[in-house]
Amino acid sequence: NSENQTRALKVLLAGPRGFCAGVDRAIRVVEEALRRYGAPVYVRHEIVHNRTVVENLEKKGAIFVEELDEVPADAHVVFSAHGVPKTVPLEAQRRNLLYLDATCPLVSKVHREAERHFANGGEESRHILMIGHAGHPEVVGTMGQLPPGAVTLIKDAEEARTVQPENPDRLAFITQTTLSVDDTAEIVAILRQRFPKIEGPKREDICYATTNRQEAVKRIAAECDLMFVIGSPNSSNSQRLREVAERSGAPRAILIPKLENMDWKDLEGVNVLGITAGASAPESLVQEILEALSKHFTLDIEERIVKEEHVTFSLPAPLG
Ligand code: SF4
Repeated sequence: NSENQTRALKVLLAGPRGFCAGVDRAIRVVEEALRRYGAPVYVRHEIVHNRTVVENLEKKGAIFVEELDEVPADAHVVFSAHGVPKTVPLEAQRRNLLYLDATCPLVSKVHREAERHFANGGEESRHILMIGHAGHPEVVGTMGQLPPGAVTLIKDAEEARTVQPENPDRLAFITQTTLSVDDTAEIVAILRQRFPKIEGPKREDICYATTNRQEAVKRIAAECDLMFVIGSPNSSNSQRLREVAERSGAPRAILIPKLENMDWKDLEGVNVLGITAGASAPESLVQEILEALSKHFTLDIEERIVKEEHVTFSLPAPLG
C-alpha cells in the first residue's frame, strides 16, 4: 500500500514480554535431551503452547505426541512445562520409558501446595478449590496430583458464588499460574468472604511472568489504538494479555500467532500500536513483525519496561 509507505507509526513495546524462565527451561530440556541422547526425543503434549517453538524442535528431531501410548519402548520422553497428572510418570515407569520432566518449577510448587492441603486425606485434610480453566493441561496436571474428588475446579466468579463444599471450615484454594490477576483477585475475594477459614497460598500461585506481562500491558494499553499480542490461541497467558489490553483501554487487541497471520487492514487508522508477547512466544516473532512493519511505515519504537526480570531455572536432575 503506497499510501502507507511513509506514514508514521508509533510502536509501544511492552516489557517484559515473551519467554519466561519456565518456557526457556522447558525448551532447553528438549534441546539438551536431543544433544545427549540423539533424535528422536518424544515430547508429551506441546512443550510450550507455541507452534513456532514446536516446529523448530521438530526440525531438530523432537516428536510431539499427546499420550504415552504413542511413545515406543526404550524411547526418551519429555513432559511439557504445564505439568502432568501423577499417573503419567507412573505409567512411564511401568513401561520403563526414560522420562524427563520439564514441568515449570512454579507449577510444581502449586502441586506441592495441593498435596500439603490434602495431607494424605487424613484429619488435617482440606478440600481444595482450584481456580483455573477447564481442560487446560496445567489444570489437568495439578488436579491429577490428588485422587479424584479431592479438588473442585472453580472456573469463574459465578462458580465461586455457588459452590457448596461439604465442609466449609476445611477448605483451601490454589490457582492456575497463568490467570488474569484481576479476575482471580475477584474470585479469591468471593471465596474468602463466603468461607472465612479457607487457606490460600502465602504469595499467590499466579507466576511472576504472568503478573509482569499483564502489568506491562496495562501501563501502555490506554495510549494504544491497537494492541498486537504475539502468541498462540491455546496459550492461556497470551489470551489473558489480549483481554487485559482491551479492559485497560486499548480499543482493540488481536492475538497474532505469527507474521503470516497479521492482517494489514487492521492497521488502517492506527497511529499508536502496542505490541506484547505471551510467555511461550519467542522474541524472534516480535522482531519479524517489527521488520515487516518497518517496510510499510516509518516506525518510532519505544520500549516501556515496567520490571526487570532475572529469574532462571536450572535443568532437571538427569540433565543438570
Ligand atoms: Fe512457569 Fe509462569 Fe512461565 Fe508458566 S508462565 S512456565 S508458570 S514461569
